[in-house]
Amino acid sequence: MKIHEYQGKELLKKFGVTVPRGIPAFSVDEAVAAAEKLGGPVWVVKAQIHAGGRGKGGGVKLARSLDEVRQLASQILGMQLVTHQTGPEGQKVRRLYIEEGADIQKEYYVSVVTDRATQKVAFIASSEGGMDIEEVAESTPEKIITDYIDPLVGFTTEQATKIAKAIELPAESIDQAVDIFQKLYQCYMETDASLVEINPLNRDSSNNIIALDAKFNFDSNALFRHPEIVEYRDLDEEDPAEVEASKFDLAYIQLDGNIGCLVNGAGLAMATMDTIKLFGGEPANFLDVGGGATAEKVTEAFKIMLKNEGVQAILVNIFGGIMRCDIIAEGVIAACKAVNLKVPLVVRMKGTNEELGKKLLAESGLPIISADTMAEAAQKVVAAAK
Ligand code: ADP
Ligand code: MG
Repeated sequence: MKIHEYQGKELLKKFGVTVPRGIPAFSVDEAVAAAEKLGGPVWVVKAQIHAGGRGKGGGVKLARSLDEVRQLASQILGMQLVTHQTGPEGQKVRRLYIEEGADIQKEYYVSVVTDRATQKVAFIASSEGGMDIEEVAESTPEKIITDYIDPLVGFTTEQATKIAKAIELPAESIDQAVDIFQKLYQCYMETDASLVEINPLNRDSSNNIIALDAKFNFDSNALFRHPEIVEYRDLDEEDPAEVEASKFDLAYIQLDGNIGCLVNGAGLAMATMDTIKLFGGEPANFLDVGGGATAEKVTEAFKIMLKNEGVQAILVNIFGGIMRCDIIAEGVIAACKAVNLKVPLVVRMKGTNEELGKKLLAESGLPIISADTMAEAAQKVVAAAK
């Protein structure tokens, strides 16, 4: 789960990391009132969306008067902000963050992230922070320093000092930076984050260190331990189909293809998508209906898949274990009727009560294409989608 910058800064503040003073705003008037309350002379009007690269996309602007705050707020609020992380359609800006303008001497980069290869937490830092970190990683990777934190030892002052020196922070800033680095690690661990990224981490002309941006990702599997973070969830930033699916406890990820897939079990879902691709098709989604695929759940799953106008055929691939094939068949039949299915439907069922399930489908009077093997099912659905 992702959160907005202003929410991330709230968290950072709780953990003792210095951030500029700022106030979120949901309207132009609120933005001006926020600026008035903060006091001048310089403010930054920042679009709040769950994507980086806002500055380059025109979503972060400096204002030198309240009039300018008003003007920029009305310009940014409601705009369709396109960044390298939003895709070409962009993301609508519904919230702003009004922040006091910082005195920027030099911008650094730091992040804490889970590194699967080493099974450790990686602390990444660079002297080249700001809006072009991807470019730095590409052209001068030696300027990006990665250090791994031993979970038994923790993030020692020694290790943090070594990193602070490696990114060429001046002597006057080292103690502050070390303190912030360690607090970032603590924040990362205690919130079950999978990413905490500060870009830029600013050094001002008095060599004080302050976080000007905050990006968080959280491990969804750990959210049950963090109701205060779940509170931050902003459904406007998520795919509507995925939000709908999560209400019914369905694991759904929208993709670009034209073949809808309804499968039970994540492993079978991935194998199904692979098989479709093997035969030249493109899945329109990943959908795992889970172990308890009731008629109601299957119906909801069909509705969600069919909201995607790109779907030209559907493949149902079910393994009947505890969930019997006849129950699944009843679910599929009920769902087809409920959604008035117009696209071709291929069904493959294996396992408990398979014969009974197939019989129910055959006798339903619905134009269901039945298949026996994975390969046959994939070939049939790829052909049907053409
Ligand atoms: P993004 O990473 O999405 O582009 P940032 O929050 O990093 O958004 O802002 C982009 C740039 O705007 C920063 O690199 C920094 O130079 C500038 N900036 C951001 N916040 C402030 C601030 N409070 N005061 C001054 N400049 C800022
Ligand atoms: Mg940034």
